[in-house]
Amino acid sequence: MSGVSSSDETALCHRCGERKDVVELDRLLWCAECRRKARERAALWGWGEGIVFGAFVAAYILLVIRPTDIVTSGWVATVLAAVWIGGRLGREITYGIIRYARTGAPGADARGTPSQGREA
Ligand SMILES: [Zn+2]
Repeated sequence: MSGVSSSDETALCHRCGERKDVVELDRLLWCAECRRKARERAALWGWGEGIVFGAFVAAYILLVIRPTDIVTSGWVATVLAAVWIGGRLGREITYGIIRYARTGAPGADARGTPSQGREA
């Protein structure tokens, strides 16, 4: 932007604390690698949360609704849908929590770029 060479336009990743090119950092100052790792972690958690949610739905169906044998496959599909939807929701929520939990690298607040007075 100001004609500064690209080697000067680096900043510390807020997550891992490594010095990265600013074009690789997003608005929370996370590098692409850290975002990828957070996505993977959130996906794993999302699956777990989806299964837990599905188990609650299954328990509700078995204990409260008490389905007859005739429609069992329909209830199985309902539980699978609950696992899938719960997993998707859990993944997004967990990703948001990881992103905003501020569990970054120690000292990563000391940016390589001049402070703009921004306090996140
Ligand atoms: Zn990083």
